Amino acid sequence: MRQPLIAGNWKMNGTRSSAEALIKGVLEGAEKLGKAEIAICPPFPFLEAGERLVANSSVRLGGQNVCTEASGAYTGEVSAAMLAEFGCSYVICGHSERREYYGETDAIVAKKLAIVVENGMKPILCVGETLDQREQGKTQEVIAQQIDAVIAQNGIASFAELEIAYEPIWAIGTGKTATPEQAQEVHDFIRQRIAGQDQAIGAKVRILYGGSMKPGNASDLLSQPDIDGGLIGGAALAAEDFLAICRAG
Ligand code: 13P
Repeated sequence: MRQPLIAGNWKMNGTRSSAEALIKGVLEGAEKLGKAEIAICPPFPFLEAGERLVANSSVRLGGQNVCTEASGAYTGEVSAAMLAEFGCSYVICGHSERREYYGETDAIVAKKLAIVVENGMKPILCVGETLDQREQGKTQEVIAQQIDAVIAQNGIASFAELEIAYEPIWAIGTGKTATPEQAQEVHDFIRQRIAGQDQAIGAKVRILYGGSMKPGNASDLLSQPDIDGGLIGGAALAAEDFLAICRAG
């Protein structure tokens, strides 16, 4: 049985004080929730406050990105060791915004996954298709390529150490959610793709859904057999909404 994981991706939002208030709001409600594991991924400058505030709670902390390299002359980058030192358990890798705006290729994403694991954290590997690709019937081809690139570079065993988030790009921040059936179909495809290489890893890997998940649609999505949680953007910026989604998990 896979425990659901609900992770909040705050993206580039908030101030020091709003971030602290949001973390506190999540913490107040989180301890009363049962089943789902909960993680929050604030912007880097707020990780220190995050670490301090979530200490001794069940809420986990995550980074939104990481450098492919361990240390050195990489101006503006943040290393996996730094994220681990600031209490991160998870790191989002290959979010579609990073792939699209910052040129992250499958090869770069695979390197990030590896360095996150080397530093004792769990990567959340994001995959997903554009609206154009979906309309051209290429969803499975695109997802297969994103998954296969990681298998080729890091090996199938690496999927025992990571979480996957299926985020259809057309559903991110648009208010257009994939229907539970549309999402389930892709989640099942991803699981089969991995199980085809290693049955046990395929059965165990958690596959989260991301893209306009909200309190109103979370339970329908999360009740699908292969949807094991959510990666929440906009709705993670209000503690009440985020906690309502966590309750649905
Ligand atoms: P929204 O929930 O705002 O659509 O964002 C989803 C997402 O990109 C999470 O990583």
